[in-house]
Amino acid sequence: MRVVITGGAGFVGSHLCDRLLAEGHHVICFDNFLTGRHSNVAHLRSEPRFELHCQDVTDSVDVDGRVDAVLHFASPASPVDYQSFPLETLRVGALGTLRTLELAEQHGARFVLASTSEVYGDPTVHPQPETYWGNVNPIGPRSMYDEAKRYSEALTTTFRAAKGTNTAIIRIFNTYGPRMRPDDGRAIPTFVTQALSGNPVTVAGDGRQTRSVCYVDDLVEGIVRTLASDVAGPLNIGNPHEMSVLELARLVIDLCGADVPIVFVPRPGDDPMVRQPDIVRARTELGWNPTVDIQSGLLRTISWFRADAVAAASLMTD
Ligand code: NAD
Repeated sequence: MRVVITGGAGFVGSHLCDRLLAEGHHVICFDNFLTGRHSNVAHLRSEPRFELHCQDVTDSVDVDGRVDAVLHFASPASPVDYQSFPLETLRVGALGTLRTLELAEQHGARFVLASTSEVYGDPTVHPQPETYWGNVNPIGPRSMYDEAKRYSEALTTTFRAAKGTNTAIIRIFNTYGPRMRPDDGRAIPTFVTQALSGNPVTVAGDGRQTRSVCYVDDLVEGIVRTLASDVAGPLNIGNPHEMSVLELARLVIDLCGADVPIVFVPRPGDDPMVRQPDIVRARTELGWNPTVDIQSGLLRTISWFRADAVAAASLMTD
């Protein structure tokens, strides 16, 4: 297949590029490097089946030749990123989704939208099934992301209904792994970076809020299965293993072999109290299940962050 991936130089998108190239596909990546990194795709530069277009997908997404699939993953994703780029986030959720849906429609291609568990907001139903409509503050501090994604879901649903575009929506829950930026503000890269550098680990609030974190390889498997299927979704893709943020911080410190204290800092506004995917639909419709347990996933992530820090330090001394 010839597959277009927007946001392909980001954390999730670059793993997706690797996986699709390994399966023999041709990958056409669009990224404006707003929150992505050149180093995430540097190893693909010599690959003849990989094309990189440094472009903002809210302007245009033009492709020469056939397109069999469009995976729309471009968007700032961490709260620190989308609050630093609020208008860019709304634009890529709205205009970026429109442009990529139009591309898929013109080519009769399969379209997969990377939506998010944030469409459930601060949920009053637990765990969250896809039938839950959510509890989102439309003018709150996270609204530029939550509402951009809710709009992109509405647009995708409308293209399917009105134009017959072959679309799928996946709602991704917190995912972690190699290639996250140490400064992206999400809990795992923050805890790992703090613990490895011998600094106190900062936990928001009293740390009793829960998260269910999924290792990136499991997410990519779910995306690839969605792409190969004809399901419309929405489908939750996440690991239902739920833990408190405090437990997560203690586990990271332990696995890093660090001797650092935990300090408590204020919780950001509209931070969800609980988060756990109901994945019955993905299990039934895709035969998908996460397989990487939290200890193994964290150990792989920690060793990547160690190596990344060494590489960054050697670049600075060169
Ligand atoms: P990321 O920030 O690492 O990657 C996003 C990529 O999109 C970056 O490379 C960025 O430069 C690019 N981008 C942003 N705006 C663009 C534009 N206008 N034109 C072209 N490129 C643009 O984030 P990520 O964690 O890899 O997330 C990827 C997708 O998955 C996002 O759509 C996000 O909403 C979704 N998602 C991720 C998670 C998660 O836990 N990582 C959870 C839920 C949903």
